[in-house]
Amino acid sequence: MNSNTQTSSGADEEECWRAVLERSRSHDGMFFYAVRTTGVYCRPSCPSRRPLRNNVEFFSDPQQAREAGYRACRRCAPDSSDGGSPPWVLTLCRRLEQPGSVPPLSELAQLVGLSPSHVQRIFTREVGVSPHQYGKARRLENLRAELKNGPDVTSAVFDAGFNSNSVAYAQAKPGLGMTPRRWRDGGRGEEIVYSILASDIGSILIAATKAGLVTVRFGEEAQMISDVRDEFPLANFRRDDELLAPQSRTVLAGTLGVANLPQLPLDIAATTFQARVWSALQVIPLGETRSYADVAMMIGEPRAIRAVARACASNPVALVIPCHRVVRSDGSLAGYRWGLETKEALLEVEGARPHQRANH
Ligand SMILES: [Zn+2]
Repeated sequence: MNSNTQTSSGADEEECWRAVLERSRSHDGMFFYAVRTTGVYCRPSCPSRRPLRNNVEFFSDPQQAREAGYRACRRCAPDSSDGGSPPWVLTLCRRLEQPGSVPPLSELAQLVGLSPSHVQRIFTREVGVSPHQYGKARRLENLRAELKNGPDVTSAVFDAGFNSNSVAYAQAKPGLGMTPRRWRDGGRGEEIVYSILASDIGSILIAATKAGLVTVRFGEEAQMISDVRDEFPLANFRRDDELLAPQSRTVLAGTLGVANLPQLPLDIAATTFQARVWSALQVIPLGETRSYADVAMMIGEPRAIRAVARACASNPVALVIPCHRVVRSDGSLAGYRWGLETKEALLEVEGARPHQRANH
């Protein structure tokens, strides 16, 4: 810590520096580091290039850093209150993604040693849906993917974590988030809430119904708003940044190359083919790319390379379905619905090397 703080000691500083070198998310909120050469202060997990140790100063809170003349980093936004989700939130996401019935709140609370009400409140604030809703949404997604890919419906239902077929289908219908007729009707009667986010990669519009996100897109603010209105001409639109804050945090974390983000619920229309492609895209790991041919192989349609490219280009939810991770077989970027520069920036922040492809 810097010499003005009570916790000042060489040993503390060594630990802080190690956390900075490791971009440790678990140290976020515990301290901040400032860089004399840039005049900027950051969270330990900031994705920016590591500074030289000699240029670094540590602070226990952002206020002190500002008083010392530093300004907040735009990439890691050290002043925003979220400070990154507490690590236990991700622990619970992983637990909730395991097959079987959705574990009760009491069990989740016990797992992380916190009270059920605290878990419920903080998880919902950070992820945007309650632990139970999250568990259910993941099961429905698994079910959808299994039904599309596997011939054995019954085993798919069990793999997706349901106890019986009838329960699965009863739950699956609304939760599939894909109701083409409703969207063909121009979103008549739907309420769509949207928010505009500023990221280093550019402005982002996210929009959602009660059921989930309908779009995540990059572009110029006025243009994005008018495009979304054109797509859902009969829906009621309103801007509500606060309501969408949890989803916004997750999307912004995506623009910073943060791994293992929770999967946000979607409310998008898709053809069967699009749904298969989009499900395949969601399993491409951060930091890697696949070619259109690879994705065609993944869905068992090796000749459908052009159709795969079209499905990628029609993805309505940037980042959440990572279509930016699909490139040409020779490693060149090919197209991107929201611009090649955006695609390049996303791949760079994720640390993807152009030729890092799956062999098959
Ligand atoms: Zn930073």
